[in-house]
Amino acid sequence: MDAKLSPEDETFRLTVRRFLEETLTEPLRDAARKRTSLWQDIGSSMTWQQTLHKQGWAAPDWPVEYGGTGWSLIQRYIFAQECVRAEAPALIPMSLKMCGPMLIGYGTDEQKAHYLPRILSGEDIWCQGYSEPGAGSDLASLRTAAESDGDDYIVNGTKIWTSYAQHANMMFALVRTSTEGKKQQGISFLLIDMTTPGITVRPIINIAGVHELNQVFFEDVRVSKANRVGEENDGWSVAKYLLEFERFSMGSVELRRNLGRIEALAKLTPAAGTPFTQDPDFRREFARLEIEALTLEASEQRVLANLSAGKPPGPVSSSLNIQNAEVLQRVDMLGVETVGYYASTYQPEALEIGRNRPPIGPEEAITMVPMYLSNRMKSIAGGSSEIQRNIVAKAILGL
Ligand SMILES: Cc1cc2nc3c(=O)[nH]c(=O)nc-3n(C[C@H](O)[C@H](O)[C@H](O)COP(=O)(O)OP(=O)(O)OC[C@H]3O[C@@H](n4cnc5c(N)ncnc54)[C@H](O)[C@@H]3O)c2cc1C
Repeated sequence: MDAKLSPEDETFRLTVRRFLEETLTEPLRDAARKRTSLWQDIGSSMTWQQTLHKQGWAAPDWPVEYGGTGWSLIQRYIFAQECVRAEAPALIPMSLKMCGPMLIGYGTDEQKAHYLPRILSGEDIWCQGYSEPGAGSDLASLRTAAESDGDDYIVNGTKIWTSYAQHANMMFALVRTSTEGKKQQGISFLLIDMTTPGITVRPIINIAGVHELNQVFFEDVRVSKANRVGEENDGWSVAKYLLEFERFSMGSVELRRNLGRIEALAKLTPAAGTPFTQDPDFRREFARLEIEALTLEASEQRVLANLSAGKPPGPVSSSLNIQNAEVLQRVDMLGVETVGYYASTYQPEALEIGRNRPPIGPEEAITMVPMYLSNRMKSIAGGSSEIQRNIVAKAILGL
């Protein structure tokens, strides 16, 4: 991407670079450096989103009429690369990458007019209420029920693995509105205000000791029918459409970021022996992963071209998701191996934003193990790799 930029794109790159230099404060960069999962801490993420929003850059992938930037494919890539280079915090995907595009595709005019500006500004933070105990891969088995009561539904049931529900004031959720016919046909898609009486959020702490996940309980929760997206009992179409956006991310940018950190670590000379950069096994695996990241980048550009033309990502997002998960987890593994014995040091306090005491071992090492642990989720969340392979088999290969 870097090699043949037109003069206009070079100017664009400089504009982005200047903006990032002026707006990224040291606490924001520190937070980005210390991110140990795909999700940034909420404070830094929202501060950064508001800065981008003021500039009109919060949602480059959205159509211009809803607040997108109108940038070309190349410009969007340049922007993503520059953000990583300048150590910008990551944005929370549930609002901008998932709910927004879903509303643009399926929302009523009123829903778009109300929610899209609030998503861009960060006034609303969304979480995703799909999975339930007993309904993960087999999502259509979900049982959280929405019973009709005049102009409202009364919702009862539970959702699980709800990322960032503790920060969200809105949830997009799948609920059962009928038990007749095929199980996919009795599902509706609701937008639920998390402050409605009857909603309880309970934390689930993950393998890295971090609170990102929750179980959410609904007890006689009243939701207006005006908050249904799509027709009653046709929520499955909306859900699948949204999943295509969820499963597509510019994963290669994240891979490049992690590979860059590993390279920096590998160049350090250990107390005994030689740097990893002189180790043939390390160099072979590093080169392989770099090539795979480049291959992924090329495939992502094809999907971005679809998005530019106003089309959803399509089922190919499932094959990219598999590739992204597998390469990311191998990159993490190489990161842990490169850290060597510092991988066994437990120092969560080193990840505090703004901490000025040096960590034990190199600075780049402190995120490697938490990142490795956290990214196990990449082959589970949003549909496990086995389920994505089933989709590729059916929807792409026609098997
Ligand atoms: C970190 C994280 C964040 C998440 N965030 C959210 C969120 O915000 N909102 C939300 O709604 N959900 C969220 N999820 C839930 C996620 O979507 C589910 O975990 C996922 O769909 C798998 O469902 P399950 O955990 O119930 O596993 P199961 O469905 O019980 O699957 C267990 C195993 O069986 C395999 N399997 C199941 N069925 C098949 C099949 N037909 N063919 C082949 N293999 C199969 C699976 O691949 C898996 O290996 C999150 C999950 C994680 C790990």
